[in-house]
Amino acid sequence: MPGLFPLSSFLYPLHMELRVAHLYPDVMNIYGDRGNVIALRYRCEARGIGFRLSEINIGDPFDPAEFDLVLIGGGQDREQRRIADDLAARGPALRDAVDHGLPALAVCGGFQLFGHRYVDHDGSIIPGIGVFDLETRHPGPVADRCIGDVVLETELGEVVGFENHGGRTYLGLDQAPFGRVRRGFGNNATDGFEGARHNNAIGTYLHGSLLPKNPRLADELILAALRRRYGDAVEVTPLDDAPERAAHQNAAAIAARRSRAAKD
Ligand code: GLN
Repeated sequence: MPGLFPLSSFLYPLHMELRVAHLYPDVMNIYGDRGNVIALRYRCEARGIGFRLSEINIGDPFDPAEFDLVLIGGGQDREQRRIADDLAARGPALRDAVDHGLPALAVCGGFQLFGHRYVDHDGSIIPGIGVFDLETRHPGPVADRCIGDVVLETELGEVVGFENHGGRTYLGLDQAPFGRVRRGFGNNATDGFEGARHNNAIGTYLHGSLLPKNPRLADELILAALRRRYGDAVEVTPLDDAPERAAHQNAAAIAARRSRAAKD
């Protein structure tokens, strides 16, 4: 019967599944970063793509080769200290997997620990895992925090979110940023860069949650993960993103309004 199975269904398996590892969700989940998981689940299941979530907590078994996408959220300095040793033990395998194309999204405190190290607010050195060539230094407890709405220009278009961090992040000479700051502080409030990008891994300071307000970014992560597992022919059908676009525009408008107010 012609048309029973569209050609595309012969290009890749009829039923695909996204296997997601969420690192330390009970500890590294400040400012609702769990919303990124909710957005990814929705954007897969709305397309008939399976979504299998594994929460990886301290001491849990974890082999990056068994996953298509890794997420880690943000956390306060004390929470970063809590998970640092466990994350460091997983560092070589995670770094190798990202070097071989594993997609990842690391937000704020998680982003900082995906660099080489984080010198925290009282000068303690928290080791990172070196996925990104960067390091972060907190200027001390009396320094202003980088707090506010953010608008970025990235290769994936405009990205909006919210930042709240004390640490200042400095990229290595060959480390690509995730984007350039149009509004907000970004990595260190001086060089105009925000986040970092290596292969299919993205690090960013943007909370929000990030992915519900940036549907193109969410879909790019999903596509990178599915194509890595099922082949480059994979496509995803467009969704009705009217609510997501409205949330995006609203966040951009708030950032613009606050940026003008700050200049007045
Ligand atoms: N504790 C880190 C800092 O203050 C990260 C904060 C966060 O994850 N929001 O820079």
